[in-house]
Amino acid sequence: MTLKEKNQNDIVSSEFVNPIDIEYVFTNKPIDRFKTKPKLENKSDLLLKLKKEIEDISNCELKNNAKNIVFSDGSNQSKIMIVGEGPGQKEDEIGKPFMGDAGILLNKMLKAINIERNKIYITNVVNYRPPDNRKPEPAEIIRYSNYLRKHITIIDPEILILMGSAAMEALFGSKIKISKERGYWKDVIINNKTYLTMITFHPAYLLRQADQKKNSWADLKEIRKKIDQLNIVL
Ligand code: URA
Repeated sequence: MTLKEKNQNDIVSSEFVNPIDIEYVFTNKPIDRFKTKPKLENKSDLLLKLKKEIEDISNCELKNNAKNIVFSDGSNQSKIMIVGEGPGQKEDEIGKPFMGDAGILLNKMLKAINIERNKIYITNVVNYRPPDNRKPEPAEIIRYSNYLRKHITIIDPEILILMGSAAMEALFGSKIKISKERGYWKDVIINNKTYLTMITFHPAYLLRQADQKKNSWADLKEIRKKIDQLNIVL
């Protein structure tokens, strides 16, 4: 292409572009070429921020009576996230979820399907121990479910396991029964993202109702099957 032809092409394309009527805005401000781009926050930063948000909760009977916040345990990089109900006495003292008898059973349940506890991420619906180990009130579940949703968004698991009716209610509401809903894969949509979710019995319930262990075992096998199907490496 000769220089003349090239210039000709430039004229043609400017004729094409001009009718689009782009409005150029001119400003006298110098371009700040050294401005650093906003940094994308990593998971740990986001989790710290969320923890701080929960620590700043006011007017909460749970927080006012608890010794420690119980935020989470395990790997924040995990593709599996477990949600329990709320801390008991031991968890309140240590500041980590599932440290007492229910935690010992949870560890056994995970081991039975070849999962090391430290390879998954664990949290609860409420992050402070309810007085006298009572079940969190519906209003408390609703209040804390906002933090739980944020928590799930940050961890972004491929499989979400809801243990017990409080965890189920936090994401699915209180009109359903765990005995009917457990054992099936469900979708839960949080912040426009769909999470594959399994509702199953809480280990503390299994300690009281040993006859339900067979159903729990069926759910655990289903979870293992899905982990393998999705090629999740733990
Ligand atoms: N039960 C729960 O739901 N969570 C804990 O952390 C301990 C017991």
